[in-house]
Amino acid sequence: MLKDLLDNKKCFKLVCGAGNEDAKEVERLVTIYSLAGCNFFDLCAKPEIVDAAKRGLDRAGIKEDRYICVSVGIDGDPHITKAVIDQEKCVKCGKCKVICPHDAVIELDKYKVKKERCIGCGQCAVNCPKQAIEMVSQLQDYKEVLPKLIEKGIDCIEFHAISTDEKDVMEKWDQINQYFDGMLCISIDRSELGDKKLKECVKKMLECRKPYTTIIQADGIAMSGSNDEYGTTLQAVATAQLFQNAKMPAYIMMSGGTNTKSIELASLCNVEPHCLAVGSFARKIVKDHLLAEDLFTNKNKLDEAVKIAKSLVDIMVNR
Ligand code: SF4
Ligand code: SF4
Repeated sequence: MLKDLLDNKKCFKLVCGAGNEDAKEVERLVTIYSLAGCNFFDLCAKPEIVDAAKRGLDRAGIKEDRYICVSVGIDGDPHITKAVIDQEKCVKCGKCKVICPHDAVIELDKYKVKKERCIGCGQCAVNCPKQAIEMVSQLQDYKEVLPKLIEKGIDCIEFHAISTDEKDVMEKWDQINQYFDGMLCISIDRSELGDKKLKECVKKMLECRKPYTTIIQADGIAMSGSNDEYGTTLQAVATAQLFQNAKMPAYIMMSGGTNTKSIELASLCNVEPHCLAVGSFARKIVKDHLLAEDLFTNKNKLDEAVKIAKSLVDIMVNR
């Protein structure tokens, strides 16, 4: 069970991308990482993406001890935003295409964002010299979306909120609790609230939950972990330490800027997360394999990808 993995601190979550609607890529990621021993998969909240992940598990021939989480968010949260280019302002300099970590910008006669590949990291918008890129929230109607996802057979729902609007956060949280009685994950952005308010908010959200039926995502800087450095993972460790010291009745998962250094740095700081979630870095190290047309027909290629993924997964699962 997912709970056992968390209790034993053996849980590794692959973040396929809360906004990643590329079913082919998700299927490949789940195949590679499940063969590498990853036991938890975080997906975009779309039924077709859950199907893609399940196809990945089938391909890997794995039926047990693999768990699926879907990510939902509230207005303004980067996990549910997509970049949109204003063609009137765009001067076709190409910077956004070069900088995009998820190959979501395409150049035809003009620069365009492929919506299904955009993960909302915002790097293009920050670096556009003409402020031609707007980040637009993809609002989700939980009443419509959640029953369809639950019907597919999911194990966890992760709730993302970058907001100081506590009323909005609590209303959405209550809705999720009404629909789903499985494991929930809280991911509240620290940067907007500060430590004190963050702890208060999470504590309040835990009031309606039974002990240890919730994961607190200790987020560093979301979608910042492409580089394998201590610096990128530092904030995730600091946030995990904050929650560990608060002794709340919930599991702690480190995420946001995580990489191969995360568990080592956490250990040096006496932080012991129950789960490590890795997104940008995990996807980056197998990027060439994800693009290979012969991934599923060339055994050597798949084995190679699994070996690379395993070097990351083992850091948590076999520590
Ligand atoms: S960085 Fe901005 S101006 Fe340059 S191509 Fe992209 S959207 Fe256009
Ligand atoms: S840089 Fe980030 S926000 Fe911009 S298009 Fe690429 S994935 Fe989307």
